[in-house]
Amino acid sequence: MKRYRVRPDDHVNLDDFDPRDDSAMPGDKDETLAESAKLQTKLDALQEMLFAEHKHKLLIVLQGMDTSGKDGATRFLMGGFNSQGVHIVSFKKPTDVELDHDYLWRVHAHAPGRGEIAIFNRSHYEDVLVVRVHELVPEDEWKKRYEQIRAFEELLTSTGTTILKFFLHISKDEQRERLQARIDDPEKRWKFAHGDVEERKLWSDYRKAYEDALSKTSTKEAPWYVVPSDRKWVRNFVIGSIVAETLEGLGMQYPQPVIEDTVIE
Ligand code: AMP
Ligand code: MG
Repeated sequence: MKRYRVRPDDHVNLDDFDPRDDSAMPGDKDETLAESAKLQTKLDALQEMLFAEHKHKLLIVLQGMDTSGKDGATRFLMGGFNSQGVHIVSFKKPTDVELDHDYLWRVHAHAPGRGEIAIFNRSHYEDVLVVRVHELVPEDEWKKRYEQIRAFEELLTSTGTTILKFFLHISKDEQRERLQARIDDPEKRWKFAHGDVEERKLWSDYRKAYEDALSKTSTKEAPWYVVPSDRKWVRNFVIGSIVAETLEGLGMQYPQPVIEDTVIE
């Protein structure tokens, strides 16, 4: 799964990443789906141990263009996690109160505590993405944010948080199909937002903003992964594998409380 990782000094060009790439899958679609189901079982056990040990904290950041599958990836992960101990946060347009504070204020409040996993569906990265593309703050202000975000994430990682950041990479053609499906399919229509069609017109601006964010904020401790996301089963397998590998790497153990001569009558 290392192939998807952005190294700290990489200069990301998204043309180098194929959104349809399935070369690292364990087999065809059905075989990969079967492996993904096993991954969910593994994730369940790992998350239970994280919760029981009450030591590590895991932050999962999901970013990507509209329809890239942030909700779907969250659903996949939640299929493997017990909702106790996992906290999903969807970051929307900031409220007036949030705008009266610095942009990290609302984010920090949702950072995971010991034994917890937080999944961010959008995140503080919107503050260098949508904010940059729509010029919601002056350039000299958003330009400082890459360094601020690195410092913020460094604060979290140096105090026991593991951070994984996933960019769900879809092609522009795939987005057209998914937006069209939201119009055509009565069960998907509730997800359709006219704003998404307007945002699509800014595709190349977003792409540039993403390339900069990925290049400037992928660190050893808080890496970005570019996830091929045109195929949902690939996306889920890649994300699930990286989360499972990362949790396994923490060397977690169940706590061993002393049970002295306890007799249960
Ligand atoms: P959705 O993910 O479809 O629920 O949409 C959430 C919307 O909130 C998206 O259009 C985001 O761009 C927007 N949003 C999230 N964070 C920010 C932010 N910090 N500033 C402005 N808009 C934001
Ligand atoms: Mg939307």
